[in-house]
Amino acid sequence: MTVFDQVYIGGSWRQADGEKRPLINPDTQAQDAELICASVDACHAATASARRAFEAGWGRSDLLTRRAALNQVITQIEARAEDLAQCISRELGAPIDFARSAQVSAALAHLRATERAMTTRPQDRPLTTNPDHRLRYEPLGVAGLITPWNWPLNQVALKLGGALAAGCTMVLKPSELSSRTALILTEAIHAADLPPGVFNLITGASDIGAALIASPDIDVVSFTGSTQTGRFIAAEAAQRMTRTTLELGGKSANILFEDCNLETALTQGLAHCFRNAGQSCNAASRMLIARDIYDDAVALAAQIADATQVDRPHLSGAHIGPQISASQYAKVQAFIAGVETQGMRLIAGGTGRPNHLETGYYSRPTVFADVPPDAPLFQDEIFGPVLTMTPFDSEEEAIALANATPYGLAGYIQTADPARADRVAKSLRVGMVQVNGISREDGAPFGGRGLSGYGREAGLWGIRAFQDVKSISGAALVDPV
Ligand code: NAD
Repeated sequence: MTVFDQVYIGGSWRQADGEKRPLINPDTQAQDAELICASVDACHAATASARRAFEAGWGRSDLLTRRAALNQVITQIEARAEDLAQCISRELGAPIDFARSAQVSAALAHLRATERAMTTRPQDRPLTTNPDHRLRYEPLGVAGLITPWNWPLNQVALKLGGALAAGCTMVLKPSELSSRTALILTEAIHAADLPPGVFNLITGASDIGAALIASPDIDVVSFTGSTQTGRFIAAEAAQRMTRTTLELGGKSANILFEDCNLETALTQGLAHCFRNAGQSCNAASRMLIARDIYDDAVALAAQIADATQVDRPHLSGAHIGPQISASQYAKVQAFIAGVETQGMRLIAGGTGRPNHLETGYYSRPTVFADVPPDAPLFQDEIFGPVLTMTPFDSEEEAIALANATPYGLAGYIQTADPARADRVAKSLRVGMVQVNGISREDGAPFGGRGLSGYGREAGLWGIRAFQDVKSISGAALVDPV
């Protein structure tokens, strides 16, 4: 059996000597490999190494140096793109075509957008036309990066690119369920030849994540994961007023007005909810539909869900794969079973795995209609291929329903009326809005409000998350570093 037992500290690989964890293949449910995690001592060594690298010069490096480094990292990741896709497919259960075309390519697109943002925004900028006053953006220091498993390369790339561009050094602690992807990424970063200690990798679960954020060497924490863990991280970070970005869960609404193209809206809407087996923070998991088109929408949604293919990760095609783990599968199944007993209208899917799959954590694409806003199904993030459908009678009611959960990550609007799209987009209490299936531009700020967290990633905003702004008055810019 393959054993993954390395951590990366100060520019070299070291033997990990912490907890042993079995790595289970979500398709076969069999043990695939073993992970030996970092110890708390290794975590301390990694943060100390990042501190030394920051003080030794990376913190004062110029933009050109950092841009060249980021470009090197991008080149090396591109060279490992197929390895990364294969690993994500095996580790997460993502169908291989999706792993290539979405998981890996999204990460590369974010890194390129970060690189582009660097070209337009120097560290020192005038405050006004008066040359006596300027703003200077400086790196916060050593960054602790903690990431989830669901987009295992992309979530790391968003943080890695921003931190590197900002001039921070960093310690990455990826999810214990997706460490193999992070190890390949680290091999690519090693090949990019960054100064030793600028990037460090430790593996492990919650105990190692907690040790990382407790380290006095850490100046800024960037966390992506569940709202529950985000609360813990925010409370810990508050002890030392450590700057944090929290990218947490979501329960995003997709509003279908009566003038939308119903077939397109439903096809795209269900695909958005089900893709990655529903394991995306910004999944459009609550569909709100104008009453006039509700019955047609429900009938069509049932057909589309029934036609959604679920299959094994190594097969080519546009199917969805399994949930990542036994516990994630159990959570999704328990949710579906619980709702079935509450009398909500199940129109597609249900409990259990699809008939043609004998093993694996496969859920059926599931749709419930007539879901009231006070139902847990409407309120809670399920992180599986489960869609809710709820009718509304007016634009005001649609907005109220969309805003009726404590999350605030994304909102989706389908309408042929530009004035209505504009009004509703402004009224949604979320960080991101997409109208009529138009995806976010690479480099647009990514993040949310409420229980979806705070702070932004991607592009310029992703760089600023790792910087502080200093105002300087009366000292002209002499040395532009
Ligand atoms: P999780 O919170 O269980 O774990 C996330 C990371 O935090 C892992 O690396 C884990 O080891 C670590 N961790 C867990 N407990 C910790 C602790 N006490 N101290 C420090 N670190 C700790 O989340 P998950 O199950 O890996 O990911 C799924 C969640 O991530 C979903 O809620 C999803 O919505 C969210 N997510 C959000 C975004 C976003 O950008 N908003 C993107 C992707 C995923």
